[in-house]
Amino acid sequence: MRLILLGPPGAGKGTQAQRLVEKYGIPQLSTGDMLRAAVAAKTPIGLKAKAVMDAGELVSDEIVNAIVAERIDQKDCAKGFILDGYPRTLVQADSVGKMLDERDLALDVVIELVVDDKVLVGRIAKRAEETRAAGKPVRKDDDPAVFPERLREYYKKTAPLIGYYYAKGLLKGVDGMADMDTVTAEIEALLEKSSHRK
Ligand code: AMP
Repeated sequence: MRLILLGPPGAGKGTQAQRLVEKYGIPQLSTGDMLRAAVAAKTPIGLKAKAVMDAGELVSDEIVNAIVAERIDQKDCAKGFILDGYPRTLVQADSVGKMLDERDLALDVVIELVVDDKVLVGRIAKRAEETRAAGKPVRKDDDPAVFPERLREYYKKTAPLIGYYYAKGLLKGVDGMADMDTVTAEIEALLEKSSHRK
């Protein structure tokens, strides 16, 4: 099973992806996590990406496409994967389409988590508060001052993917404002229905 979780930052893609990993035994490919790991390890990609990420902007298509192309060829992706936070631009969407075509694979479904902006801003503020209360450092891009920039990037560059995948007949929407278990149940119901293509 190959699916994309689409939605604005703070919509709950990461949480839902982790639950699907447990249920279906396929890996979560989060470009955000991969980039944060590269930043922490101070790799050449990490060094390039850090300032862009801290400012809430998007890292270049070239970098993320290369990371994903390498990742999907790893053994644990043979039965499928959950793309979380990728693709985030039309160029990335075309690129992942091409990567899959070249491997004679296809996407089963693209699930959009639909959440109001006000709810997102509230969630991010809460996440920052809880992290601080736990004595941990808050991610720079989770700072309530930077978050609006991430939302702008989403609307400018990522939201067009909703139409892109709708036109391909792959898009399914889920109410991301319902409680977490309900969202999970809805996603699982959609996955049971989505025809398993190649
Ligand atoms: P996330 O944890 O998915 O919100 O990602 C954190 C940050 O990593 C984003 O704000 C971007 O700076 C960068 N990033 C993650 N995924 C991508 C992507 N697919 N394209 C460009 N930048 C990305």
